[in-house]
Amino acid sequence: MLDNIKKLCNSLMTAFLIGSSLFFLISCAGAKESSAPGAGAANGGAAKEIELKFNGNNALSFVYEQLAMGPRTSKDAKQTALRDRLSSKLKALGFTVEIQPLKGASGMGAGVDFYNVIATMPCAQNQNLRIFGAHYDTIPVAPNDPDASKRMTPIAGANDGASGVAVLMELARVVAERKSELKHSIKLIFFDGEDFYTGTDNMFYGSRHYAASISAEEKAKIEYFILADMVGDSDLNIYQEINSLRKFPELTEKLFASAETLGLKGFHASPRHQIFDDHIPFIEAGIPSAVLIDFDYPYWHTVSDTGDKVSADSLAQCGKLFEYMIFEK
Ligand SMILES: [Zn+2]
Repeated sequence: MLDNIKKLCNSLMTAFLIGSSLFFLISCAGAKESSAPGAGAANGGAAKEIELKFNGNNALSFVYEQLAMGPRTSKDAKQTALRDRLSSKLKALGFTVEIQPLKGASGMGAGVDFYNVIATMPCAQNQNLRIFGAHYDTIPVAPNDPDASKRMTPIAGANDGASGVAVLMELARVVAERKSELKHSIKLIFFDGEDFYTGTDNMFYGSRHYAASISAEEKAKIEYFILADMVGDSDLNIYQEINSLRKFPELTEKLFASAETLGLKGFHASPRHQIFDDHIPFIEAGIPSAVLIDFDYPYWHTVSDTGDKVSADSLAQCGKLFEYMIFEK
C-alpha cells in the first residue's frame, strides 16, 4: 500500500477525483467502529446453513511460513523462494501455473525483472473467469515507522503482503477440494512489484503489466476481479472502497451484501478510503473490480507489521467471502 497517503490524510477528508480516470489515494481520518471479529463470526447467523470449507488456521500457517522466509522484496532471493513455493503448491493442487515475466518500464523499477504468478482452475462447463488477486512482494522500507532509525528497514509484511497471499492459497486448496462444484473458471494472480518502493510511480508493476496484456478473448470472459490486500488484521475493519464503488458499484455491493449474509463482523457496508492499489489497472481496463482492504491498520509500512497482528478469524472472514462468491453466487 501507498505511503504518501498519510501525508494527504492529515489534511483530512479531501478527495480529489479529476475526470473519470485519475485516482488519488486518500485516507480519511475518522472514528473507527469498534468491531470484534470474534471466534465464529464467519459461522454466525445465516452462515450456519452455508457450509464453507475455508480454514483460517491454514491461512494463518501460510502467513507464518512466509514470515519465516524473511522480507520478500522484489528481486530478492527470498521472494524467489516464495514464488517457487506458490508455484509448486498450486501445481500440486491441480492448477495450471504460469510465471509471467515483465520488465519495469518506468519509475525506480525501470529495467527491473518482475514475475507475476498466475494460477488457473478451468471449469469445463463454463469458461467465464472469476479472478482473485494479491501481491506477494513486501516493501523494502518502513516509511511510516514512528522510529526514524527504522524507516530504511524492510518490513516483515505479515498483513501487507502475506495476508492476501495466504487467503488466496487457502482458497486454492478449497477450490481444488470443491472442483466438481465449480460453475465458473477461477484464476488466482499473485502480483509482483506492488510495493517496489514508495510513491505511485514505483508501484503496481505486476498488475499494470497484467491488465495491459489481457487479450480481447480473455477480457470477454472475465466476470470480475477482486483484490485482497491487508485483510488479516485481528481488529478487522473493511469498508467499501471508493474507487471500486464509483466505477463498479454492483460488485462492491454484492461483496458487502454477501458479507452480511455470512455474518462477517469485520465488514462494514459503507464507503471509506479511496485507495490506489492493484485493482486500479483492472478498473481502467474496464473490468468490474473491487479491493478488500483494511486501511485502518496502524502498523502499515512499519517494522511492526508482524505475525502477532494477524488472526485466523480475520483471514477466514475474507476467505469465506471469496469461497461464497465462487460457489454460491
Ligand atoms: Zn504496502
